[in-house]
Amino acid sequence: MRLEQRYGDGHRVLVSGGAGFVPSHLVDALIARGCTVVAVDNFVTGSKENVAHLADHPRFTLVEADITEALPEDHPAFADRFDAILHMASPASPTDFTTRPIEILRVGSVATLYLLERALADGARFIMASTSEAYGDPQVHPQPESYWGNVNPVGVRGVYDEAKRFSEAATMAYHRSRGLDVGIVRIFNTYGPRMRPDDGRAVPTFISQALRGQPVTVHGTGNQTRSLCYIDDLVRGILLLLDSTETGPINCGTEHELSIRELATKIIELTGSSSEVVFVGRTADDPEMRRPDLTLARTRLGFEPVVPPDEGLRRTIEYFRRTMLASA
Ligand code: UDP
Repeated sequence: MRLEQRYGDGHRVLVSGGAGFVPSHLVDALIARGCTVVAVDNFVTGSKENVAHLADHPRFTLVEADITEALPEDHPAFADRFDAILHMASPASPTDFTTRPIEILRVGSVATLYLLERALADGARFIMASTSEAYGDPQVHPQPESYWGNVNPVGVRGVYDEAKRFSEAATMAYHRSRGLDVGIVRIFNTYGPRMRPDDGRAVPTFISQALRGQPVTVHGTGNQTRSLCYIDDLVRGILLLLDSTETGPINCGTEHELSIRELATKIIELTGSSSEVVFVGRTADDPEMRRPDLTLARTRLGFEPVVPPDEGLRRTIEYFRRTMLASA
């Protein structure tokens, strides 16, 4: 299946959280298609460096604003209508769940409503970046979109999981009651260049530890699993959803499921490190296993992830090596 590219030359796209890890790669892809891109970010977890290469690009504007307060409607970049709005903003790492719980709740609720209203006013397509965390600690494996999940609303991760579930509900409400053109993507574990080395997630933590020759800290037994997707594959999936008329939710990720212990060993091997694996305490409500059912993504979007795990990890390790050297 091949979908027509609906958004390209001459289209104006707003990306919330545009200086973050995943959204900054989306911004690159949209610019490459010929779109005019406005990225809005408050730099709580996003970084200007992620979009620094676009600073002088004629079709790119970076607006600093906290969209949980209000959209920066008086900024010139917000004067003309947007053709598409991608709501990608949110702190999203386990460290953020404890250090920024209120910010996470607000960006996944108040800010979602602001952006939905703007999409409605503009007649824009609205893409909601949701998450595999919507399934919580799943009791169905792999996870199809029809599974309602197993979320602890009052647990530490609840702020993220429930904010994203609220965002999904809000998106569907605008679609059903106002006829808004929407697409919801449930993003599974994604990795690649521009992740923050200290964000507490497994891939950047393990790579940083291995490159420094420090012990690689596996939580619990390390038998818990994740399915890792390289950023380029995810970006392609999100753009396929953008170009489609699918409402979703649609899972996006890979079926390369591996245990966290295997991931630690693989990263030690690929970095050529002498680090050892150490087993430390497990975090609360940590999902035991996670793998997307990709049937919908394949049949509705023609999505297929193509980057092999070792290749994606090599590219990511290279990025960390470079940035660690630069900041040394
Ligand atoms: N993890 C780990 N050591 C670390 C960081 C993470 O063993 O230093 C584990 C974590 O407990 C979880 C898995 O790796 O079981 C994936 O964690 P990550 O934060 O990358 O993704 P998420 O839990 O959000 O899927």
